[in-house]
Amino acid sequence: MTFPAPRRWFAALAWLPGQGARRDVLIEADGDRFTSVTPGAQAPPDVTRLRGLTLPGFANAHSHAFHRALRSTTQADRGTFWTWRERMYDVAARLDPDSYRRLARAVFAEMALAGVSCVGEFHYLHHQPGGHPYDDPNAMGRALIEAAAEAGLRITLLDTCYLAGGLSADGPLPLAGPQLRFGDGDAVRWAARVTDLGCDEHGMISPHAQAGAAIHSVRAVPREQMHPIVAWAHRFGAPLHAHMSEQRAENEACQAVYGMSPTRLLYEQDVLGPRTTVVHATHVDDGDLALLGGCQTFACLCPTTERDLGDGLAPAQALAAASCPLTLGSDSHAVIDLLEEARGVEYAERLGREARGHFTAAALLRAATSAGHASLGWPDAGEIAPGAHADLVTLSLDSVRTAGTADGLALEAAVFAATAADVRDVVIGGRDVVREGAHLLVPDVPAELSRSIRAVLG
Ligand SMILES: [Zn+2]
Repeated sequence: MTFPAPRRWFAALAWLPGQGARRDVLIEADGDRFTSVTPGAQAPPDVTRLRGLTLPGFANAHSHAFHRALRSTTQADRGTFWTWRERMYDVAARLDPDSYRRLARAVFAEMALAGVSCVGEFHYLHHQPGGHPYDDPNAMGRALIEAAAEAGLRITLLDTCYLAGGLSADGPLPLAGPQLRFGDGDAVRWAARVTDLGCDEHGMISPHAQAGAAIHSVRAVPREQMHPIVAWAHRFGAPLHAHMSEQRAENEACQAVYGMSPTRLLYEQDVLGPRTTVVHATHVDDGDLALLGGCQTFACLCPTTERDLGDGLAPAQALAAASCPLTLGSDSHAVIDLLEEARGVEYAERLGREARGHFTAAALLRAATSAGHASLGWPDAGEIAPGAHADLVTLSLDSVRTAGTADGLALEAAVFAATAADVRDVVIGGRDVVREGAHLLVPDVPAELSRSIRAVLG
């Protein structure tokens, strides 16, 4: 990867750590890092001007890229969770490394247009239909890494261990049908395959990509298989993610088989900790909250997916109060809009408690930026500050949604009124990726989405 030359931007309004939204901010970068940030500055000549509100890049902390092909189709006939899952398996059965690279490139380009500078791709579609590995057993993961590079994003490939087809009262069920593509046999073989991705001792695969680990869920990874995954994550200092307690049925099965909640099971297997993210955490009780918070585990909320699937309301404020940093993901990509996810956290809390006023706009933006990046293993991203990755997202404040916003309320307008359609300019690692709402690396994102989705829907 070649790094861009030193660059300077002049932001009319920029959100700076600990300072709120400041006017006239001169932002300088060398290569892929910010070198200086000066509010109240004079605009030098020949500087790139950023109108509107400039934020750090967004982290989409939980994505399954191929689910984008299901958008709208799963809404037909008032589909249930299970019809949704059947359609998801249909698409999963048709992808190969080439079609997945094209689809993911378009999906990641859509993310860039929405201001996402880094994606956490929770990746479990590893092998050929039937479960036989490709010549390169990591061909699918490499397709995702390539797709992110082509779309201009950084990626954490959360390579997911998925060994069982479910958890019944009698124990784990074998993989069947389309699920055979997900399985490595056991966690030791999973670890050997992931190590073959070729990351360095810090988990870096290339400057834009790092490896992370994921336990699909307590439904898909039996208790005795968890330790090799945890050990792999420790060896590389890598992030470790797991779906957890998204639906009550998982809690009930876990209770029946292991006699404890999914949270306690993960705690007892040393899965929880400050490099770990639990995704959803929808159905957790006070005992679970104490374990999660005591370990400073990240909680990734995906409000648009959780409401789409009818999962329930995650106890967002209780998680935050228990010391779980919150992050955001677009998960199934019912929509890709991190601002919608951010306000969804507050709105779900308001509906659940029948009261307003739980999170500030700044707290929700931290979930979308610094906390999200940290949960993906990029703690030096997600803030406009010297030394951080040079990622910028500029939202227009003169669209039909945002016009009339006072400077002092720009963060509130961003979180509660703006949408992904208000993202005008995106800089990732010092490089322009989106300019005036147009992706500079993928010229026609809607056409690429349409082509690549038609190819996998048949
Ligand atoms: Zn998910």
